[in-house]
Amino acid sequence: MSDPTPYDPNNIFARILRGELPCTKVFEDDHVLAFHDINPQAPIHILVIPKGAYISLDDFGTRASDGEIGALFRALATIARRLGLDDTGYRFLGNHGINAHQEVPHFHVHLFGGHRLGPMLTRKPVEQE
Ligand code: 5GP
Repeated sequence: MSDPTPYDPNNIFARILRGELPCTKVFEDDHVLAFHDINPQAPIHILVIPKGAYISLDDFGTRASDGEIGALFRALATIARRLGLDDTGYRFLGNHGINAHQEVPHFHVHLFGGHRLGPMLTRKPVEQE
C-alpha cells in the first residue's frame, strides 16, 4: 500500500533530526540516527531512523538510494552488537500504516532486547470479515 499523504516535515522524528527536540542518541552516521524510545517496551528499545524524509518502509524501499538502505541495515547490526545484544538475542520490527499502528510518519525500525521478548505477535483470533 502506498502512503496516501505527503511527508509531514513537522513529525516528531523530523524535529529530532533537526535538533528541535532532544533524544538520547546511541548511533549516528551520514544516513542514520538511532536513539532510545521515549516509552520503552523492553529493557533496551532503540529507534533506528533514516535521516532522509521517508514516511514508511514502502516509501523508503521505493525512493531511498541503495546507500541509504544499506546504511540502515548495517546500523541496526552495529547498534545491536555495540549494545551486547548479538549474544543474548534481539528483535527488530517496523510498523507500516493503520493495521500495524504506525504512530510516527517517519520510517523507523524498533530494536528490542535485554530480556526474553516472548512471542512475535500477541495471540488474537483472526476476525472474520
Ligand atoms: P510506531 O508506533 O510509529 O511504530 O512507533 C513510534 C515510537 O516512537 C513509539 O514507540 C513511541 O514511544 C516513540 N516516540 C514517540 N514520540 C517520541 C519522542 O518524542 N521521542 C522518542 N525518543 N520516542 C518517541
